[in-house]
Amino acid sequence: MAEAARKTGASEQRPVTALRGVGAQLAERLRRLGVTQVQDLLFILPAGYDDRTTKREIGALAPGMRTLVQGEIQLTEVVFRRRRQLLTRLSDGTGFLTLRFFHFSASQQEGLARGTRLRCFGEVRRGPQGLEMIHPEYRRVADWSEPVEETLTPLYPLTEGVTQGRLRMLIAQALRELDGAGVRDWLPRELVEDLRLPSLREALHYVHRPPKNARLEELAARRHPAQRRLAFEELLAHQANLRLLKRATQTDPAWALEDAAGLAARLLASLPFRLTGAQARALAEVEGDLHAERPMVRLVQGDVGCGKTVVAAIAAARAAGSGLQAALMAPTELLAEQHWRNFRDWFQPLGLPVALLSGTQPARTRRSVLETVASGEVRLVVGTHALFQEGIEFADLALVIVDEQHRFGVQQRLRLQEKGRRLGRFPHQLIMTATPIPRTLAMTAYADLDVSVIDELPPGRTPVQTVVVPEQRRDQVVARVDQACRGGRQVYWVCPLIEESEELRAQAAEETAAALETALPGVRVELVHGRMPSAKKDRAMSDFKAGRIQLLVATTVIEVGVDVPNATLMVIENAERMGLAQLHQLRGRVGRGAAASSCVLLYRAPLSPLARRRLEVMRKTNDGFEIARRDLELRGPGELLGTRQTGLAQMRVADLMRDADLLPRVQAAAEVLLGQYPDNIAALSARWLAGAEQYGRVG
Ligand code: ADP
Ligand code: MG
Repeated sequence: MAEAARKTGASEQRPVTALRGVGAQLAERLRRLGVTQVQDLLFILPAGYDDRTTKREIGALAPGMRTLVQGEIQLTEVVFRRRRQLLTRLSDGTGFLTLRFFHFSASQQEGLARGTRLRCFGEVRRGPQGLEMIHPEYRRVADWSEPVEETLTPLYPLTEGVTQGRLRMLIAQALRELDGAGVRDWLPRELVEDLRLPSLREALHYVHRPPKNARLEELAARRHPAQRRLAFEELLAHQANLRLLKRATQTDPAWALEDAAGLAARLLASLPFRLTGAQARALAEVEGDLHAERPMVRLVQGDVGCGKTVVAAIAAARAAGSGLQAALMAPTELLAEQHWRNFRDWFQPLGLPVALLSGTQPARTRRSVLETVASGEVRLVVGTHALFQEGIEFADLALVIVDEQHRFGVQQRLRLQEKGRRLGRFPHQLIMTATPIPRTLAMTAYADLDVSVIDELPPGRTPVQTVVVPEQRRDQVVARVDQACRGGRQVYWVCPLIEESEELRAQAAEETAAALETALPGVRVELVHGRMPSAKKDRAMSDFKAGRIQLLVATTVIEVGVDVPNATLMVIENAERMGLAQLHQLRGRVGRGAAASSCVLLYRAPLSPLARRRLEVMRKTNDGFEIARRDLELRGPGELLGTRQTGLAQMRVADLMRDADLLPRVQAAAEVLLGQYPDNIAALSARWLAGAEQYGRVG
């Protein structure tokens, strides 16, 4: 590491305050943008570009263009139309253009006198008197043929307290330094040659200063080779880091869980079902790891309902049977309690108590749970991750199980691992996720983990029938709910997705529940939403599980993990506004028993072409991995979402979905770096991961 820091060189380590015009205040604002070193500026990529390289004639303008024009002022006047405003009429002999200012000073007005020659840049709009620009940038020109910009003008993402102009100037300075060996290319030459991508220097120059004939569409889609070069490097930095992390954990000591008491086998024998082939395979992989004296870090990936919990329970039994402790963390109270019930039902017959750590339990109860955990009297504990972050002491934690991994970052996992560290030994980690992501993506995103896939559902399940129904036929959907409830079945009704606030979501859910209650007098309706006290939420959920409630109206809080086999119908409102991953997760709440289940996707017209295709995918398939593949396809280039939904690491330039085709080469390159250039990994990490989520060990 020290060697790498030295090699990184003085220029890469230059603080941003070394640049002209950067004082303490600006440095602080830049720091909030993740910029502390000069080189960090270079990796702030433009969100788009303006073309100021060519002037257009006014007669050739059309609404929507962002363009450069010039002309002579015919008239400037202040008018009052609702607001006081300044209008300037410009002509170049081919037509007229109005410049409209709502904020202006007297001197500005004076400067815009008749006869003045102006050059302006702005967006052309249709105004009351023909085409106009509102608040264009402009300057006076003495001579019509004054030179224009030679390259496209970058538009940087808007950043609090640092203006576009300021950022352009700073980045321009950093670019000039780049030419004086300011930034090193840490990709070994043999890799760069293979890639057929530009060098780092070329790439940086290109993205900040594209030539005027640049292919703007390609740039907008972030598919230009220069951008791909940077994305590649960023992906490589993440990848190599995760691999290093994995390597490091493999040298840590852990308990070999021999399970002398034979609890795992006893639990397996007591189950009312047989494991599916896929479950058995995953379990064998987990057990293989648990026999070793280094910590397991394994992700069990499997579609909703495939039965991951029981695999985790058997691993927990193995810890308990070795006289050690296991802890299960769930993302919500609701899920923690559900897991606790399952565990209790499975472990009680074996004579093992299971403790629940809940945010809602009285302080006294909580204290006594904590004591039994600290003394080692209780070997199995279930709770939310929030609870595990507080001051819990374990006697000898040998296994940590994390449910629904996408809600936990690498960082949190590491912290937990440190917490479990006892007598120099680290706990094994088993992470369960239902987020189906394609294999190459999983290999990159989870490069610090070993992965087991459960790609089979327990037998006897009938695939969920999905129908897509317009809002106008809501009455028919309500009738269908009524019918299901009369038939002794239960129903989920998922409320519209409202982004504004939790408050509004809660309100909308309350209204929907009230309306359904009126429409369905014979049906017992209950509501859950994020704003309810968790005791109330838990009560509603357990009433639903026990069948005391027939119709559960919910916001998307029910997305993860809830298991009620008697629920056979799900209605999702505003399905057109949800992503495929979320729809799939939601739909996974039904079809958990032997009875045929269905899912109604209610939508409000008009459907965008993309929404139509998404709903079509949902209607046609139930396979999570297939849905993930289609999701990837449908997103296509240019759509800048993706990773946020799946909870994968956020990156600056790269997008795991969009740049998925680079991944095989990223993996191969990581291999080369790990084998031959470990120091370069440190330098790449300093460049790409500083400020972002750090994968380094927390101590
Ligand atoms: P998920 O993988 O989504 O977390 P769960 O672990 O909640 O799924 O399992 C879903 C349901 O399937 C549970 O009711 C569980 O008891 C049941 N189950 C798990 N494995 C099997 C199996 N091999 N055969 C039958 N039912 C099973
Ligand atoms: Mg689950």
